[in-house]
This record gives sequence, C-alpha cells and structure tokens, in this order.
Amino acid sequence: MVQKRPDRTLGPGHDTFWNGCDRGELRLQRCTGCGTYAWPVVQKCEQCAADDLEFQTVSGRGKVVSWCSFVQDYYRGILPVPYDTIMVELEEGPMFLSNPHEFGENEIAFGMPVEVAFIACEDSAGRFQLPVFRKAKV
Ligand SMILES: [Zn+2]
Repeated sequence: MVQKRPDRTLGPGHDTFWNGCDRGELRLQRCTGCGTYAWPVVQKCEQCAADDLEFQTVSGRGKVVSWCSFVQDYYRGILPVPYDTIMVELEEGPMFLSNPHEFGENEIAFGMPVEVAFIACEDSAGRFQLPVFRKAKV
C-alpha cells in the first residue's frame, strides 16, 4: 500500500538522495577533503567548508537516540495522527529523523539498534521510497 506523505524537498542533491532510496540505497553526501558525512543535503562541508562533496551509500544501521509521538495534525490529514518519529544516529555519524517501521513508541528505547527499510509513499511530485527504520536483526 502506498502511503501519502507531505511533499519532499527536491532539487540538486536532494534528487540524488531520493534516486538512491528508489534503488533501496541510503546515500549521504561525504566530503572528499575531510571525510565527514553530511545530512540533510548541504552545499559545503560543515567541518572544513570544502564544496567538493560526493554521495556514498551508507550502511543504513544506527541507534535510536530520541523519539516522540505527534498528536497534532500539522499536515492537514496527509499524515494521520498519532504518528511516531525517531532520531537515529547513523553509524557514519549524521543524525537522521525518520519513522519507526513495524514497532511503536512503547517499544522504543535509547540506544536501540535499528536498520533502514524503505516503504512506498507518494507526494504531489509522485511515488517514491521513504527511508524508515526497523529493529535491527541481531
Ligand atoms: Zn570536509
């Protein structure tokens, strides 16, 4: 089933990210100078200010470092409430805001290992694969 979602940010850099998701790959920018990963999409490295960044596929593994459940309908019914949101610290460093997949707020714990999964979604620009996180297989 395709889920409706609020519109994504699209354009240079963002398109590369979403094309990766459509192939089942979580791709983030990495500075070719100092090696720092960036997320969300940036124009310059936040560590060394270089503007030479390339997309690399990352592991998709991380741990939950924060979470909350939204009950306010900020998206006028596009995203049914309540819904859970998690902050995942990826193995490569960046913090990634997403949704838990196949588990709920009552099962979330600090430091819980998770791995990326992709679910079919749709916004006003069309269908896409949204990166979400499920419990990591141990
Ligand atoms: Zn850098």
